[in-house]
Order: sequence, then structure tokens, then C-alpha cells
Amino acid sequence: MNRIQNLFGIAYPIVQAGMIWCSGWELASAVSNTGGLGIIGAGSMYPEVLRDQIIKCKAATAKPFAVNVPLLYPSIEEHMATIIELGVPIVFTSAGNPRAWTAHLKSHGIRVVHVVSSVKFALKAQAAGVDAVVAEGFEAGGHNGREETTTMCLVPAVSDALDVPVIAAGGIGDARSVLAAFALGAEGVQIGSRFVATIESSAHQAFKERVVAANEGDTALRLKPLTPVRLLDNAFAQKVAAAEAEGADSETLSELLGRGRAKRGMFEGDLEEGELEIGQVSGQIDAIQPAARVVEELVNGYRSLTKGMSDPKFQW
Ligand code: NDP
Repeated sequence: MNRIQNLFGIAYPIVQAGMIWCSGWELASAVSNTGGLGIIGAGSMYPEVLRDQIIKCKAATAKPFAVNVPLLYPSIEEHMATIIELGVPIVFTSAGNPRAWTAHLKSHGIRVVHVVSSVKFALKAQAAGVDAVVAEGFEAGGHNGREETTTMCLVPAVSDALDVPVIAAGGIGDARSVLAAFALGAEGVQIGSRFVATIESSAHQAFKERVVAANEGDTALRLKPLTPVRLLDNAFAQKVAAAEAEGADSETLSELLGRGRAKRGMFEGDLEEGELEIGQVSGQIDAIQPAARVVEELVNGYRSLTKGMSDPKFQW
């Protein structure tokens, strides 16, 4: 058992990322029931929707699960009150200052993990009292760091700098990349894109099929002057690229983005005009599978790769 398994009380240090429009209670409970840690992505949920999702998740699994709250969410007080009231055991925060909520959540016995994309923010998260950090590299889908540090460079740097355990994210989708993350110093992995392409993901079927069809080079980091986000190529992404090439400022990009693009793309299946947030690893995903099968493939593959390795840090 390593520190991440102990911290969350889970069999496998495999975390399913909280993803707006893609990770509701069906996916989170399926992953937790298989022995990993499932996360409900609260960023796209109105407060009453999150309440309903947590209640359903608790009914569907007796195992630990988490909620991911992007700290720039507009109704954050309501989300946090619901999380505390309903006894969610673990919260992953992202996109904001970890000092804002960590102490409050911890005073209610909640374990807190913050997502970072640099050593600087990892140290801030540790100073804020988090129990672990997710070090998420450039390959990841959705919101991303401005510095473009890759998982290969970020994870060892963050692992060296921190005392709390590190969960690696960005570009991880199979057993080989899980083992690589452990070799880089992580004690857990957070996987998003592969779980988008599962039966239980709440993403639109057309988006899941687009993820399976994606090839190497089909994603790019867009909207850097606004909020950097990795998107699959489509008509919308091309409009953004053209505007960026002309030197568009953040106001122009914000107008082009409008409201609800992520919902339109990932939840409603508008593959041309919606935002399709996915990681580079989508190029390697070739099937829509049950979430339990994904976890099983990762664990079996990992165990076969580490057979004969004697260092206990690799054994789980
Ligand atoms: P937009 O402002 O474009 O749209 C808001 C969307 O969120 C709408 O689709 C709306 O649904 C839904 N929503 C849910 N709760 C609320 C609320 N309390 N107030 C307003 N709208 C709400 O934002 P985005 O879709 O780009 O992002 C939504 C959230 O997800 C943000 O908190 C953002 O930080 C987070 N996010 C996280 C990402 C990640 O990678 N982790 C990536 C992108 C966004 P409806 O259409 O039904 O009104």
C-alpha cells in the first residue's frame, strides 16, 4: 500500500479525473466500485444537480469517491456546503487558489487534493495544507498550465519538491504510462480521456466516438490569452486558431467563445461548433469500454509490467 492508497482507502491508486459534462455519478461510482477513485466533475453542475449526483453516487457505491470543484465556479459556496452536508470524503480542487477552501474542508474531516501545473503552485498547495497534489502536464485535456510543462518534466520536479504524495496526470492512458508515472515519482495516476470513452461517461455518444477516432496531432492548446484549454480540432477550434494567428486579445477570444460551448460540444454532441476538451492520449484510445474494464486492463497490464521488480514502491 502506498500513501495514495492509504489516503483515499482504495485498492488501486488510479483516479478517474473530474471532467465537466463527462463525469457524473454513473462513471464515478463505477470506477470506485472497481477499486479506483471515481470523481464527480462539479464544474458543469448547478447546485441542485450536484446534490442529486452525490446522493445517487452514494447509493451506487459504498466505496470512497470524490468531487472535483474548479475554484472559479460561480456558486462555489453552495457546492462546498452540499459536499460537507452530504459527507463527501474527498474533494479535488482546481483552477484557483488552494488557500481559499482547504482549511475549511479539512476542518470537516475531508481529504483535499489540488491540481497544479507547476512546482510553484505545488508548493503553494502544500503550504495551504492539501493532503496530495495532482501534477498535470501539457498533454492533458481541458484546462491546462500556461507554461506548457510536460508530464515527463513536471512530475519528477513536483515529486522532488514536495513532502505530500503526488498523483501524475496528463498523457496517461495505459499501463505503460502508469508505470512511467510511478518511475517519475508519482504514487498515483489521474486519468481523464480514457474514461471519457466509457459506457458510463455522461459525454454525448458522438463525442465518445470522435475521441476513439482521434489521431495523434488532433488536439492543440487553444485560448492561451484567456484560459489555456486543450481541444480537439473542429470548426470552432479552427476559428480560434485563426483569431489567435491574427493576434486576438482576450476580449475578442472571450466573445468568440461565448457561453456554454463545452456543454454544446461534449454533452450535446455538436462536433463542429462545440468545445471538445480531450488530452493528447486520445490518439491512442480505440474503443468505448465499460469503466470497470478500463481499470481492470490498467491493473493487469501494470502487474504484468512490474512482475519481477523488487522495489516496493512499484508493488500495488
Ligand atoms: P460557460 O460560462 O461557457 O458556461 C457555463 C456552463 O456551465 C453552462 O453550460 C451552464 O449550463 C453550466 N453551469 C453549471 N452551473 C452553473 C452556474 N452555477 N452558473 C452558470 N452556469 C452554470 O463555462 P464553461 O462551460 O466553459 O465552464 C463551466 C465550468 O467548468 C467553470 O466552472 C469552469 O471553470 C469549469 N471548467 C473546467 C474545465 C477543466 O478542464 N477542469 C474546463 C472548462 C471549464 P446551462 O447551459 O445548462 O445553463
